[in-house]
Amino acid sequence: MSKFWNSKIRDASPYVAGEQPRPGQRVIKLNTNENPYRPSPDCSEAIRDFDIGQLRLYPNTDSISVCEAVAELEGLAPGNVFVGNGSDEVLALCFQTFFEKKGLTDLPVLTPEFSYSFYPVFEDFYDINPKMIPLREGLRLEPEDYIGVPNCGIVIANPNAPTSRAVTLDSIKKILDANPDSVVIIDEAYAYFMEPYETAASLVPDYPNLVVVRTLSKSYSLAGLRVGYAIASEELIEGLTRCRDSFNSYPVGRLEQAIAVAAIRDQDYHKWCRAEIIKTRAYTVEALEALGFDMPESSANFVFARPPKCISAEKLYQNLKAKGILVRYFKTEGLSDRLRITIGTREQMEQFIEEVKQEVDDAENI
Ligand SMILES: *Cc1c(COP(=O)(O)O)cnc(C)c1O
Repeated sequence: MSKFWNSKIRDASPYVAGEQPRPGQRVIKLNTNENPYRPSPDCSEAIRDFDIGQLRLYPNTDSISVCEAVAELEGLAPGNVFVGNGSDEVLALCFQTFFEKKGLTDLPVLTPEFSYSFYPVFEDFYDINPKMIPLREGLRLEPEDYIGVPNCGIVIANPNAPTSRAVTLDSIKKILDANPDSVVIIDEAYAYFMEPYETAASLVPDYPNLVVVRTLSKSYSLAGLRVGYAIASEELIEGLTRCRDSFNSYPVGRLEQAIAVAAIRDQDYHKWCRAEIIKTRAYTVEALEALGFDMPESSANFVFARPPKCISAEKLYQNLKAKGILVRYFKTEGLSDRLRITIGTREQMEQFIEEVKQEVDDAENI
């Protein structure tokens, strides 16, 4: 605590990210849902072709080239796209733009009880009333639970994290239809790992209150680039732009914009990566189930697995960490009996399974 911090900062409870190993440390990193594959080779080419002289100049404020690439892919207009410094920034701007503060409204923002842990951090920091909607049996989200509940906004990650479960577009439509006066944010950080792929972006022309948030961090292997975007009606995009320009008008650099465009335009490579991860996910689920783990059906690039009775999630997390394998463990009540395990390459997952098998065998023999 510093006497120089204002009361807002003194009271803040910031987000805690998964650990990042130091450079040179050899680990199998399955703890922050990064992609194990390199970004598209077209990104290297974009860097090679980039004229460093361009960095003298400020970038385009709207990242218009990225908007155009996304719009083309989604069959929408560039005015339906907003680009930010990672989807965390896009989400932060959404919370500030579309949700009302405590005191100005009694209405809460609805989020699933177990979801992306940044949402409660934003609610706290921007002074928004939270309301957590419990998940049903098996960590399933029930759309009916978001109907008839007074609110000033709704945020749902689909597929959800850390549960890995997805809801159907029909469920999302039900929620949108029942809440025409609230902005509904669908955070699609993991949508590209759904099988079959479905996106709420297809609903944007029909729902002026829908915001779909995406990131290049997961399926495009660009977590280090920091580019995310929102897809929504022009009315909502204009609101986000007003908010951004009251904070930082140049959130994405010129080089970042060029790399992002290259990645988005190389859909063949993107599809290949997604298919590999989906295949390796099937292998991982089968291998874990054979060892006595159970987990909800995953539509993401991670699984949320409960170890067999002989070993606790916390113990397994610690033992794997000691062996140089990082997975994510949440101490939160209701989640602390599971591990969130990112899907790496097939080779990484085989090594992971081998170590897990040894841990389970050792625990059973005590
Ligand atoms: C990873 C993740 C994000 C953040 O992505 P960035 O673009 O890297 O900031 C947003 N939402 C969810 C649910 C995530 O898991």
